[in-house]
Amino acid sequence: MPRSVKVAVIPGDGIGPEIMSATVKVLDFLKLPFEFVRVNVGRKAWEKRGAAITDEDLDVIKSCDVVLKGPVETPVGRGTYRSVTVTIRKELGLYANVRPFRSIEGLALIPNVDIVLIRENTEGLYSGIEFRIGEDTALGIRVITRQACERILRFAFEYARRNGRKKVTAVHKANILKETCGLFLEVAKEVSTEYSDIAYDHAHVDAVAYDLLKRPERFDVIVTTNLFGDILSDELAGITGSIGVAASANVGDKYAMFEAIHGTAPDIAGKGIANPAGLMLAASMMLNHVGFSREADLLRSAVMRALTMKKVCTPDVGGRGNTDTFTSAVLDELSKMMSVV
Ligand code: NAD
Repeated sequence: MPRSVKVAVIPGDGIGPEIMSATVKVLDFLKLPFEFVRVNVGRKAWEKRGAAITDEDLDVIKSCDVVLKGPVETPVGRGTYRSVTVTIRKELGLYANVRPFRSIEGLALIPNVDIVLIRENTEGLYSGIEFRIGEDTALGIRVITRQACERILRFAFEYARRNGRKKVTAVHKANILKETCGLFLEVAKEVSTEYSDIAYDHAHVDAVAYDLLKRPERFDVIVTTNLFGDILSDELAGITGSIGVAASANVGDKYAMFEAIHGTAPDIAGKGIANPAGLMLAASMMLNHVGFSREADLLRSAVMRALTMKKVCTPDVGGRGNTDTFTSAVLDELSKMMSVV
């Protein structure tokens, strides 16, 4: 059995604490050598101490082996704080955001979709360089560097190779964003020549948004810049299931952080009906990452089975249950599976 694993647990804001408590419950059930280290960052931390995340918080996070994160609120407008999620991704060098999307029976708009979206996580339009010139003009800087392009593109091709995937599509808008997307595309072409075993093509982001609905079978692995990846992954979540059931891994050379792709869902926070499936599936990805692949499969299967039971599922996926009933169903399924293996 692998050594003890220190997991930084960030409950987050809104529905975050509800789905995190459900997810920790199922992880506890697996009786793995985990030490959970709770880190409170986000809206409440900002209100309490004037900082949504501090250097000390980052040190605690960096002292752990992996991070399991709930959604964190980022208020709109001036005079508030910078995205905690973006800060952690940058500080920990989590440059690759890996988001697997596979059609879930009974939930998917389109059956048989199986696409992995890999999003550059550290630069692009999310670099945080924005300012006003006077009251009426606002500028944002889109940073694209050769180094970050090479890193994410190589990651995508290596991912494809390691996971038996056949094709990588680079998604851009180089006809309009000639310099920034132009550089991304230039590097994509160069890196693709190092991987003769993986097919390569590229496409404009608007055409991709359309094709995902019309002919998703043309995609296998998609690699793209930060903002495009953010938007396309919500579309893919809608196509393959629901925003509440999509999971992601943020991976760097040293650290890794796992989270659902959705936000804090303020409209349903505190009502006990948040869907914990996305975070539970992210926890399954985390289990794989730290070497517990059998438990990762068990958790994934238990969540997928529970998602077929309308009686226990949360309302966002057409269910008649709530967070607790769904969690109990996952625990029941785990218990059944563990008693036969
Ligand atoms: P959202 O994902 O929070 O909500 C969009 C819709 O999906 C809402 O109707 C919500 O109720 C529903 N939904 C989302 N997750 C759900 C779940 N698990 N179960 C049931 N329903 C669910 O998106 P938003 O409203 O744009 O963002 C709200 C806040 O979340 C913002 O402050 C934003 O900055 C933050 N956010 C954080 C992250 C992150 O921490 N990684 C990601 C996205 C958004």
